[in-house]
Parts: sequence; C-alpha cells; structure tokens
Amino acid sequence: MNILILPGDGIGPEIVGQAVRILEKFQREGVPIRMESGVLGGAAYDQYGHPFPERTQQQARAAQAILLGCVGGPKYDTLPRALRPEQGLLAIRRDLGLFANLRPALLYPELASASSLKPEVVAGLDLMIIRELTGDIYFGQPRGRRVNAAGEEEGFDTMHYAVSEIERIARVGFETARKRSRRLTSVDKANVLDTSILWREVVTRVGRDYPDVELTHMYVDNAAMQLVRAPKQFDVIVTGNIFGDILSDEASMLAGSIGMLPSASLDANQKGMYEPIHGSAPDIAGQDRANPIATVLSLAMMMRYSFGRADLAERIERGVRQVLAQGLRTADITDPLHPNAIGTRAMGDALVDAI
Ligand code: NAD
Repeated sequence: MNILILPGDGIGPEIVGQAVRILEKFQREGVPIRMESGVLGGAAYDQYGHPFPERTQQQARAAQAILLGCVGGPKYDTLPRALRPEQGLLAIRRDLGLFANLRPALLYPELASASSLKPEVVAGLDLMIIRELTGDIYFGQPRGRRVNAAGEEEGFDTMHYAVSEIERIARVGFETARKRSRRLTSVDKANVLDTSILWREVVTRVGRDYPDVELTHMYVDNAAMQLVRAPKQFDVIVTGNIFGDILSDEASMLAGSIGMLPSASLDANQKGMYEPIHGSAPDIAGQDRANPIATVLSLAMMMRYSFGRADLAERIERGVRQVLAQGLRTADITDPLHPNAIGTRAMGDALVDAI
C-alpha cells in the first residue's frame, strides 16, 4: 500500500498524526504499508510558494491513496485567489480526476444527544451522500463579472454537466446502493434547470442496468427539507457538485459533530484521497483539542475502498465505537453524561489500544 500523507494546515498535523500511529501499528503487524509525506495548502505555500506544488503533484500521482488532514487558515486569507490553500485542494482533486465524493453520515448511538435533532429522528441514521466533485457550476465556463447592457455590473457562472460525467457518477451511486440496502435517491432541480433535466434522463437510463436498485428522484429543495424532517428515509443519495456540497454539510449536522465525519474522493480505478469533512479549525490548532476520529474513519474508508481491506476498516470502526462506549470524548462531543474531555493525543492512544 503506497500511501501519501498530507497533514495540511491548522489541526491537520495533530489529527493526521493519530491516524499515522494506526498505520504504524498495522505495519508492525506485517501489513505492507509504505508511507511518504508531502505538503498541500498553506504548508505548501510556505515551503514552495504554491498550494499544490509540482513535488506534491508527482507524489500524489504516484501514490495509490492519499490521507489528507485539512487546509487553510487566517494567515493565508489575504493571498490572491490562485495561491490560497483551498485552490490546492481543488487542484489536486482535478489533477487526479477524483470525481466521486463519498460522505457517509452515520450517527453512533453513543452520540445521539450530540445531534441538533431529536434523538428519535436521528437514532440509527446511516446514509451515504455521493457528490460529483469535478464538474457543475464550480468549474463551468464562462464565468466572471461583466457590465450588462443596462450598464450595471453583474456576476455570472455556468452550470454544466456532460452525459459522460453524469453516467459515471450515477454508476458509483448504483454500485454503492448495491452494497447497502439497494435504494438510491438522485437529487436534482429538474423543474427549473436544463442541466438537471439531462441529469435525470441520464440517471434513469443508467438505472436500467441496475434493475435490483430502487431509484427515486427528488428536487433539491425537497431533499434539504426531508433531510431534517425524516433523514432515515434515505440510504444512498447521488447528486451534482453544488447540491451535494450543501446537502452533505446539512447531513453532517444530523450526525452530531463535524469532528466525526470522514470522506473519500475516488477516481474511476479506486484511487482515492481520504479526508475529514471539517476544515483546519484555526481556533483550536496546536492546543491538543481537535477530535481525530473523522480522520481515523477516513483511514478506514481508505482501507475499504482503495485497498479492499474491509477487515482493517472494520477493526478501525470497531475501535472508534469501543472508545465512545468507554465514555471517552474530545471537547466537541462531550455531553452532560460525559462532561470531561480528553485531548487529541489521548484519544489517539485510546484508539490505537482499542484497534
Ligand atoms: P472548520 O471546519 O475548520 O471549523 C468549524 C468549527 O468546527 C470550529 O469551531 C472548529 O474548532 C470546529 N472543528 C472542526 N474540526 C474539528 C475537530 N476535528 N475537532 C473539534 N472541533 C472541530 O471550518 P471554518 O472555521 O469555516 O474554516 C477554517 C479554515 O478551514 C478556513 O481556512 C477554511 O477555508 C478551511 N476549510 C478547509 C476544508 C478542507 O480542508 N477540506 C474544509 C472546510 C474549510
């Protein structure tokens, strides 16, 4: 297993450090793991003057899987847009063709009270959002600012999807549904947007290859509402880049803390970049307060999706459940029953032991 480690900025090095300790444990057991580290985002700007330098690009292309912490921070907020850490993230996704973003939202029973929704609405929640990651209005051309015919300045972007882009993300949706409970909801805005009308046609057509999966379509405004009204009706959701961006953040709150949720971004050949969904949390960086669990669960996804090692993934996931059941909490997931927080490193110790 050739793994590139990109700790990134802010809390990145602290949380990725705990996942690396788990990889080292697997290495000691004889799992053939080779790790290399590199820089991305602000850390890369500091060292090379660019958020996605050539050296990182070469390392990323050579690796089979990448574990990323998070990027960004106030120090870089005044840089020109092209040099900002988040551009490094967009660039590496695009360079590697990581078009499928898998975001599970799973509520651990121990954390039911950490959700902002009533426990009975979210208890047992286990859904997967698949967001297309390299197309849509975020990349469509033309875009920019111009002065219109009336002499007023306006901003404009272009929503855009080609048939092949829709087909490949739809297939990821159907294949994922097949591995779960065979229900897929495709989310679009086909009542208003031409791009969405095409999206719906193509997803329906691809669905003919998966007669065993029950496909439903839902408008994005309704999906946003249903996610907080009755989230357990969903199993797998597949949607475009901008709708997925918004819905997956909404879903993350169903599961309590942002510090618990992993993600995977995959290409067509199971190569992937794995990262927590949260940012670099500059407010707590360097204070041993960050929750490493989202990163550790991202490592579990890597074992499952890039290396086909469901056994190692399950050991990690069981380890997480065990430390939660023991009552161990970082500050972001404390509750009245478990008011005492432990630090990032202590949570890492407990996870390594449990695993
Ligand atoms: P954030 O996710 O970094 O933080 C939001 C809040 O959640 C903060 O209060 C933070 O302390 C808390 N938090 C986040 N992760 C946590 C963890 N593991 N444990 C405990 N608490 C945690 O979002 P933000 O404050 O909007 O952004 C900060 C920086 O991160 C910005 O520069 C932003 O651009 C960047 N960012 C990066 C990514 C990424 O790397 N994928 C994603 C989102 C934001």
